[in-house]
Amino acid sequence: MDDYIGKKPTADTAQSCIAPGRCNKHRGKKPTVNTLPHLLDIPWPQWQSWCAQRGLPSYRAVQLRHWVFAGRAESFEQMSDLPKRLRHELSANFRLWSTRIVAHQRAEDGTEKLLLELADAQRIECVLLRDDRQHATVCISTQVGCAMRCVFCASGLEGVVRNLTTGEIIEQMLLLQRRLTAEERLSHVVVMGMGEPLANLDALLPALEVASSPHGLGISARRVTISTVGLPEGIRRLADADCQYHLAVSLHAPDDDLRNRLVPANRNIGIAAIMEAADYYFQRTGRRVTYEYVLLGGVNDRQQHARRLAQLLTGRPSLINLIPYNPVAGLEFRRPSPLGLRRFVEVLERAGLAVHVRRRKGAEIDAACGQLRRRLCDVPHTGSGKTGQAAARRD
Ligand code: SAH
Repeated sequence: MDDYIGKKPTADTAQSCIAPGRCNKHRGKKPTVNTLPHLLDIPWPQWQSWCAQRGLPSYRAVQLRHWVFAGRAESFEQMSDLPKRLRHELSANFRLWSTRIVAHQRAEDGTEKLLLELADAQRIECVLLRDDRQHATVCISTQVGCAMRCVFCASGLEGVVRNLTTGEIIEQMLLLQRRLTAEERLSHVVVMGMGEPLANLDALLPALEVASSPHGLGISARRVTISTVGLPEGIRRLADADCQYHLAVSLHAPDDDLRNRLVPANRNIGIAAIMEAADYYFQRTGRRVTYEYVLLGGVNDRQQHARRLAQLLTGRPSLINLIPYNPVAGLEFRRPSPLGLRRFVEVLERAGLAVHVRRRKGAEIDAACGQLRRRLCDVPHTGSGKTGQAAARRD
């Protein structure tokens, strides 16, 4: 929320050195890598056969799964109704966790952000958002970095390093779930963290299947939102997978000229192809598509942009999610003025479109995409970001 700007976050992490491997003091020292298979990377049916091969009853696999998802176990040791020998065998052969929490921040509105270090010392972020009805949303990453290089986004400034595995995606949800109190319920998943989800669908789809399974996290598929820069092939694949997820397309501009400057990936795609794929998504799933639009003061927030956006979306079942820019250190974009924002909304509403303005949560904990990782990981500054606003204005 805006009221939190300027207030200090409470961090329960030692701030002295939380970036070993990146900071000068630790540079060159390799982190210890645990190479055992990650439990969460192994599809659940395979656990049944694993048990069968050892002459164990198949309910042992059910118990294991229950401990991981509902029992919130932190270690194999804690799985108290599994025989001791089995717990030892699991510990000796598998990792329950593949990541390490290197920073944890909590904002006054209850938003929590984790900076995770993966087994290969790469870092990603994930966020827990709370509402006032004891419901919580997890926001998860799908890649280390991002190849889309949207000029206002902290995640893509250094490009993409690699895709996350299915296990690494599930693990983010589990780590955040473990931060909930007994009264709170994990109700939504938004795939809006670092990375482009549709560029890593092979790992993401099985992870979301686990999230939405009653044997997994039990979150209804309709409460899972996948946010994409707009990769038409990925949108079609998702539509054909027939899984009822909510699709959000990050449009940010009503025409290719402006979008090419804000979202460089658009140069090889074009808005027309994205809209065609999004229409297909609606036809196949019956689910209204959300169009996200980050408002950058003086860049894409004028009434003429709103009018063109209205033209583009009129006749399409849609929701427009306006996101006032969340400042990123080193980038010179600014938030829209309150009056500019109001007028933008008015134009869209007069055209009969459904509009939502995103409330700002966790502002003081760098809750926007990739910000915490940048601040704490000493990622080199390319310099391109500094001129972001100028580049976006250029014709
Ligand atoms: N690659 C996906 C997920 C990105 S993050 C996508 O493009 O949709 C989810 C949303 O946050 C995107 O709409 C993204 O453009 C937006 N975003 C990124 N940085 C932001 C910032 N600094 N302020 C506001 N929104 C931002």
